[in-house]
Amino acid sequence: QKEEWAKLVNEKTFSSDSVQVELAANIGTPADVKGVLENGAEGVGLYRTEFLYMGRDQLPTEDEQFNAYREVLEKMEGKPVVIRTLDIGGDKELPYLNLPKELNPFLGFRAIRLCLEEQDIFRTQLRALLRASRYGNLKIMFPMIATLGEFREAKGILTEEKEKLVAEGIEVSDSIEVGIMVEIPSTAVMADTFAKEVDFFSIGTNDLIQYTMAADRMNEQVSYLYQPYNPAILRLVKMVIDAAHKEGKWAGMCGEMAGDPIAIPILLGLGLDEFSMSATSVLPARSQILSLSKEKISSHIDQILQMETMEDVVKFAEENF
Ligand code: PEP
Ligand code: MG
Repeated sequence: QKEEWAKLVNEKTFSSDSVQVELAANIGTPADVKGVLENGAEGVGLYRTEFLYMGRDQLPTEDEQFNAYREVLEKMEGKPVVIRTLDIGGDKELPYLNLPKELNPFLGFRAIRLCLEEQDIFRTQLRALLRASRYGNLKIMFPMIATLGEFREAKGILTEEKEKLVAEGIEVSDSIEVGIMVEIPSTAVMADTFAKEVDFFSIGTNDLIQYTMAADRMNEQVSYLYQPYNPAILRLVKMVIDAAHKEGKWAGMCGEMAGDPIAIPILLGLGLDEFSMSATSVLPARSQILSLSKEKISSHIDQILQMETMEDVVKFAEENF
């Protein structure tokens, strides 16, 4: 099997009925790019920038960030690289920010909420990203977007920083796509509205499942409720993909579900355009997709979405795909 996979390293990803999708990888540091390329990923679908800020006692400077982003973009040689702005909070803390302890950190002051409030931190990161943009194919993604207002404000700040850099004579790419993570149910439900303004969606199922099922993703005692194949989740995923396509935008997924062999056929059938997963899952996923007929799976999607339980979905998927 390993030999079969190795032959697919330099291939694109097609279903058996010749529908193309993109398989990308998730990374946490520039050093991870080596594994991305060795495993044949077609891009970076999620660069979690939190690690630049963690394990130290002060914020990273604009230049430190610029160097990291530039390194990733250069090593990816023009392949798409989705860099997510700071998603701190929840399970990821930064002691040096001295933020007050919260009763519900996952529902609290985190990610884009913090960035819109602590704008120095946000603007520094955006400047580093904009300066790095000319070294590759950069796409910028905002995490934990719950309302259109948040997206507009974040994008407005990005535009301001871009104009400042241009005025300073610094070269910035003109083709940076700006998108959002869909990981809060309100955003999935309102995807048709967001799709008119964003360039792309990336569905963050790790959080989307936790918030939809109201089950802490870290809590073993409620892990039975953490259900990627629950029809509720699949319906939300469908809403997001359909909304994107209606506006001519693309929809990806960068939560764990995107690399899950049981979920992959269903996601293909729903029309997902980009799957971003851990690098080591890319070749197995490419090999699996080669054997799947998108048309056949699509013809079963309505039936799957009408199922009553997660167990019904899994049973059907295992027997038919
Ligand atoms: C997600 O929520 O699915 C996601 C990809 O982001 P993180 O796991 O970093 O919260
Ligand atoms: Mg998340």
